[in-house]
Amino acid sequence: MNDTTAWRAQAEALLNDIADATRDGPGITRESYGPGEDAALQLLEQHAAALGLACEYDRARNLWMRLADDTRTDPVVVIGSHVDSVPQGGNYDGLAGVVAGMLVLSSLRGRHTQAAPVRVLALRGEESAWYGRAYMGSMALLGRLPAAALQLPHRTGAGAGTLGDAMARCGADVDAIARGESLLPVAAVAAYLELHIEQGPVMVARGWPVAAVTGIRGNVRHNRVRCIGEAGHSGAVPRWLRKDAVLAVAQLLSRMDEHWRVLLQMGMDLVMTSGICTTPAQSHAVSVIPGEVQFSFEARSQDA
Ligand SMILES: [Zn+2]
Repeated sequence: MNDTTAWRAQAEALLNDIADATRDGPGITRESYGPGEDAALQLLEQHAAALGLACEYDRARNLWMRLADDTRTDPVVVIGSHVDSVPQGGNYDGLAGVVAGMLVLSSLRGRHTQAAPVRVLALRGEESAWYGRAYMGSMALLGRLPAAALQLPHRTGAGAGTLGDAMARCGADVDAIARGESLLPVAAVAAYLELHIEQGPVMVARGWPVAAVTGIRGNVRHNRVRCIGEAGHSGAVPRWLRKDAVLAVAQLLSRMDEHWRVLLQMGMDLVMTSGICTTPAQSHAVSVIPGEVQFSFEARSQDA
């Protein structure tokens, strides 16, 4: 068995074990600072031990792995990602980056002193689905999780406890986190690398096995834009006297779509979406000319 075949088998075994332990309907569920995430971390520890990796937890209860005999204290290259998921999410989202890091560590054995020390970081609490806030494990680690965030209720209601309760249950140092104490000296990190599944369809469409992220798009959002027309009887108002809000918004969005195409041709990075577009439920009807449309508008770009 060559190296690549062996690594593939190791990666599949680890990914499948964790999928089996956290399966939930059509996907997997690994709640942030909750049971599925705990199960995933325990299995990572077991596989790490089998690969000869040493494990330890930081005070935000993120899991760190290293080659057992690599105790160098130089700034480390961190390879990592998150192990939690949205409810019934995908097995590879986050976890693939942790598993890739473990295989890198394992492949460095015997020649690791030729390069900077590598650590693998399995982060907890990245997904906002559980407490309405993202990046909880990494922000807590850096002393940047606001104390108020610890009071956020679980998605199923306050009866299920707060983020602070869940973190404490996992053994995190909630007092230090509330004080905004940095639990990781940032100077100890030389670089951070994260392998992640692509969230979009481009790599599959282009047939690329792997690609580098060149940036993350920032966004501008208008959650509720109103277009006001004039309601009227669909059988009684002739075309020339109509002010149809639906047709106006349709025209506006198709003009913007055309504008978008031109900006792309000019070399700009841009995506735009109107994910919500509705007539008011209390007054709309098949036989009423729409007098109002509400829609959302979001634009994202890597350009300033
Ligand atoms: Zn992810």
